[in-house]
Amino acid sequence: MDYQGILNVIEDKLVGEKLDGAVATYIPELAKVKPDKLGMHLTSVIGEEFHFGDSEERFSIQSISKVMSLALALLKEDDEKIWERVDVEPSGDPFNSLVQLEYEHGIPRNPLINSGALVICDILMTHLKDPQKEYLDFVRRMAGNSTINYNKKVAASEKAGGYSNRAMINLMKGYGNIQNDPEEVLNFYFDTCSLSMSCRELAQTFVVFANQGKLLKDEEQVLSEVHVKRMNAIMQTCGFYDEAGEFSFRVGLPGKSGVGGGIVAVYPNMYSVAVWSPKLNEKGNSTAGMRALELLTEITGSSIF
Ligand code: GLN
Repeated sequence: MDYQGILNVIEDKLVGEKLDGAVATYIPELAKVKPDKLGMHLTSVIGEEFHFGDSEERFSIQSISKVMSLALALLKEDDEKIWERVDVEPSGDPFNSLVQLEYEHGIPRNPLINSGALVICDILMTHLKDPQKEYLDFVRRMAGNSTINYNKKVAASEKAGGYSNRAMINLMKGYGNIQNDPEEVLNFYFDTCSLSMSCRELAQTFVVFANQGKLLKDEEQVLSEVHVKRMNAIMQTCGFYDEAGEFSFRVGLPGKSGVGGGIVAVYPNMYSVAVWSPKLNEKGNSTAGMRALELLTEITGSSIF
C-alpha cells in the first residue's frame, strides 16, 4: 500500500476543506497553541514510517494518556480487581460528566473517561512507589524514546482549575472507590495528561496495540494478547466519549482522542496512526483529526469492519 501517497492526498484535502472547531481553553495553557497546526504519522507493524506536516512537533496528549495508564494498571493489578471498580461500557456522556457517576454509585462507566482514568490512577498509586516516575518510564519504554516528558506548565495550569475532576474524585471517594488521598491522585492524573508527545512518538507508542502486545524493535511482549484485545475493544467502544459511535461509523478503527487535538488509532496487524490538529468539535474531539482518519480508511478501502 502506498501510504505516503495516501497521506499526501489526505493533507491536500484537509487544507482544502478548512475544517472548523475551537482550541480547548478550559486549561489556559492549551489555549496558547496555534490553531492551524496539522500533522499525521503512520507506523506500520513492519516498521515503515509515513508522515506529513507538523508530525514531529510535540503537543499535549491529554486523554490519550488514559490508554497508557490502563495498560500499566493491567500489568500491576489483577484484572478482576480493576473491573469491579470500573466498568467497560460506553458512557454516551461527555468526558467530564458527573451525572452517571451518582446513578451508578461511584463506579465509572469505563477507564477512558475522566472518572475511570482517576480510578485507574488511584490503582497505580497503590501499586507504584514513585507513580510519576514509573508511569513516565513505562511510556518511554513503549515509545522506545527516553526524551518524552511531562509538561509542568500544562499540568500546573490544569491543577489551578480542574474543578469538575475534583468534584468527580471526591464523589467517588465518598462511595469508597478511591483508596488514596484525592488531591494526590488528581495531581498524578494531571501530570499524566500533561505528557508532551508528537504524532510520530504517539504512533510509535501505539504500534504495540497493532502488534499483538509486542514492541517493534525487539518483539518483547510488553502486554499480553488478551489485554491488547480488550484494550482495543475499549478504545473502539469508549475512546471518543459521546462520539464513540460516530468515530466507529466514520473511521472504523479503535482509537483515542485528547483535548490537545491529538487522535491515535490502531489497525490490528497493520499499523498505528496519530494525527494532530488542535481545533476541536463540540464533543472535544479534533475535527480535522477525525476527518483525516475517515479519509485514511476510505482511501485505503480497509478498516476493521
Ligand atoms: N486533562 C483533561 C481533563 O481532565 C483531559 C480531557 C480530555 O483530553 N478529553 O479534562
